[in-house]
Amino acid sequence: MEEINNNRSISSPRLQRGDGGEAARIVVLGAGESGAGAAVLAKVKGFDTFVSDMSVIKDKYKELLDKYGISWEEGRHTEELILNADEVVKSPGIPNDAPLVLKLKEKGTPVISEIEFAGRYTDAKMICITGSNGKTTTTSLIYHIFKSAGLNVGLAGNIGSSLALQVATEKHDYYIIELSSFQLDNMYKFRANIAVLMNITPDHLDRYDHCMQNYVDAKFRITQNQTPDDAFIYWNDDPIIKRELAKHGLKAHLYPFAAVKKDGVIAYVEDGEVEINEPIAFNMEQEELALRGTHNLYNSLAAGISANLAGIRKEYIRKALSDFKGVEHRLEKVATVRGVQFINDSKATNVNSCWYALQSMTTKTVLILGGKDKGNDYTEIEDLVRKNCSGLVYLGLHNEKLHEFFDRMGLPVADVQTGMKDAVDAAFRLAKKGETVLLSPCCASFDLFKSYEDRGDQFKACVRAL
Ligand code: ADP
Repeated sequence: MEEINNNRSISSPRLQRGDGGEAARIVVLGAGESGAGAAVLAKVKGFDTFVSDMSVIKDKYKELLDKYGISWEEGRHTEELILNADEVVKSPGIPNDAPLVLKLKEKGTPVISEIEFAGRYTDAKMICITGSNGKTTTTSLIYHIFKSAGLNVGLAGNIGSSLALQVATEKHDYYIIELSSFQLDNMYKFRANIAVLMNITPDHLDRYDHCMQNYVDAKFRITQNQTPDDAFIYWNDDPIIKRELAKHGLKAHLYPFAAVKKDGVIAYVEDGEVEINEPIAFNMEQEELALRGTHNLYNSLAAGISANLAGIRKEYIRKALSDFKGVEHRLEKVATVRGVQFINDSKATNVNSCWYALQSMTTKTVLILGGKDKGNDYTEIEDLVRKNCSGLVYLGLHNEKLHEFFDRMGLPVADVQTGMKDAVDAAFRLAKKGETVLLSPCCASFDLFKSYEDRGDQFKACVRAL
């Protein structure tokens, strides 16, 4: 379907940015959550605003654009309407080397992200979270602590509603923002008051010319523009972060955390107590943390430090860290059926997140893995599979690589190419009473499912139907 909406009935206000007294023109590429929100903010701020999306725009976003009298097109990019922009806000899903983006760059037109754009129009404190794994969990946990403490806080970035839309229509004192490397790619002046970097392991290398350093540099953009008044919270034991720290000459105050006490680390666990030493001494029993597993300890420490920095009282932090409900599709307990526990970790779309899942298992585990392989190297989980797994279910259209790597371990294996029901049935057959079936696929879902959410939802439905 192709449609042009020429709703220009609302006259463009005059702006200081235009040269001939005309409103400066902002073109937004992509009309999903982030693009539609950016367009509303641009319009509210008086820009001549146009939205262009190569695909069909969802009805709810069309309605939003129409409500604000914003012109839009779908099913194509009309160059005459785009190349005349003074600035372009690009959705993170559009690669930086898309032909249209290259043309804009050639013309010298600034191409920025929605977060960069929105950051110009708010003086709220920005708490930004990035990393290869743990972003959504940590972001949600920080938001939960701030919200439970009664602060006026918004949730944005990859989760929640668009930052730009919130800046346009609401007023918050704090924003907790999950930032992907794609969003960071197009951020230049934005300043994070608190930046959290969970870890860096290979991911999305197809979008970074298969060059790990490009991906690392994108992640480190979270620290650009930080001043000595700002905070940088990071996992002390990540070898890549450690190596890069020296290179980047950070100005922010550093808050490294680790699983155990060691030199220079300000948050850790000692004798079963979670300790945060700066800026205000904080402690609680590790047993009380709602989230289990080493990776979730890191997420809880990063969230605790962030809340501590915002001056939230200890009892609120303790309570929120202990009553957090977790995030769907991340080590989510589904049910126990005839003594077999089922855990949905469908969001584990890379090998590293599966490593953490396997590492946190307390019983022998039948692992369901497979899907669209992003160039995986399974040696990272080899030892844990040998140690913790009692069976494997390969779930994907192309399971050859899994056979090649894991079959030699001699574990019982089932090969399923048909879908989730057969995978759950096979895993249930392989699992003994007292064991766990874990869906933690190491792979993207797109061969057999619409998304990781769809994969996780189907898993839960099949388990509940057993
Ligand atoms: P992201 O938003 O970065 O993808 P999520 O919080 O959605 O991260 O978790 C994605 C996957 O990574 C889940 O399978 C989860 O169990 C695992 N995970 C969560 N936190 C961490 C962490 N700190 N380090 C490694 N893996 C993690």
